[in-house]
Amino acid sequence: MTDLFENYGRLPFSLTKGQGVYLYDDKGNKYLDFTSGIGVMNLGYTFEKGKNAVKVQLDSLPHLSNLYQNPLQEEVAAKLSQNHKYKAFFCNSGTEANEAALKLTRLIKAGHKILAFTDGFHGRTFGAMSATMQEKIQAGFAPLLPDFVATPYNDVAALQQVVENEKIGAIIFEIVQGEGGVLPIRADFVQALKSCQQNGILLIVDEVQTGIGRTGNLFSFEHFGFEPDIFTVAKALANGLPTGAMLAKNHYAHYFSAGKHGSTFGGNPLAMACANQVLTAMDNDFLENITDKGNFFLNLLTEKLSVKSTVKRIRGLGLMIGIQLADEKKVPEVLALLRENGLLALSAGHDVIRLLPPLVMTKEELQKGAELLEKLL
Ligand SMILES: *Cc1c(COP(=O)(O)O)cnc(C)c1O
Repeated sequence: MTDLFENYGRLPFSLTKGQGVYLYDDKGNKYLDFTSGIGVMNLGYTFEKGKNAVKVQLDSLPHLSNLYQNPLQEEVAAKLSQNHKYKAFFCNSGTEANEAALKLTRLIKAGHKILAFTDGFHGRTFGAMSATMQEKIQAGFAPLLPDFVATPYNDVAALQQVVENEKIGAIIFEIVQGEGGVLPIRADFVQALKSCQQNGILLIVDEVQTGIGRTGNLFSFEHFGFEPDIFTVAKALANGLPTGAMLAKNHYAHYFSAGKHGSTFGGNPLAMACANQVLTAMDNDFLENITDKGNFFLNLLTEKLSVKSTVKRIRGLGLMIGIQLADEKKVPEVLALLRENGLLALSAGHDVIRLLPPLVMTKEELQKGAELLEKLL
């Protein structure tokens, strides 16, 4: 018996404690965590600086309306702003960050269409869902928002064609499609997107899963030498406290004048106190170490798994890794086997095992994971 909607397909076990990069269930079993709570706990379950900052904030002021000055929001915004090139709007989730991006886009590009890519994922509210070009997510919810169009991801010719034929005002995309199957963007596709931007089309990068260090830079667009007009973050921003942000280039800020958009809890002091510590922790040394560990892990997995007939492809960026299986029906089975052997992983797309370890996982622990995958796949 449950009093909850059964919209999640929950696993029949309860995790009750997290420590470092390990989770414990109610029977005392220990799991090496390759999920990070779906890309949220990037600094693991024992991020003391964050926890302490939240405790201090809880004792002084747990909530503050956005009608008042908020120095903590200012600090976090400055750290997200890429040297004061972007202004921030705070909200509570990824989908809300994308709603803010879409609303801002409507104001900037009235009368234009928004392009999104097949198998991208941007969230579950109506705007973000309208940009999420996956049949299984949109099914039954029509009518969606008008004036969204889709073309295949990483397909330069299709992109050029739609831009020629439609009045596209903005393009929303991920640098690595997360939910869609851990599919990294191709360099030639980025090049084509940059030309769109040069022709006045806004680029909106959804960094909700790829951001906050996941791929080895604070934001994944930094790998590709361009500046989005707008980008969105959430998941790992406050290492477990609900928060999100939409950032747009300074010159778009005036479109969100007083009263144009808002959120009661957006930029909540508890979340901001933790986010501030998260972003302080993400210094250059920390980010370089992620790249080093990501390369180490991807090479190790490739070496151990690419010879296996059960594995089709291994791909990823930083510590965001996908193992595409030859037989998509095996995904739940593999996840269950891993779980029985003390490792938690995720699925993505229809045929991919997705690994999102906390960024603080050591090479030894990553190696332990790779060895278990080698044994079980
Ligand atoms: C998870 C995710 C979202 C939605 O975030 P919520 O906080 O669940 O609303 C949006 N975009 C991407 C890329 C995501 O991975």
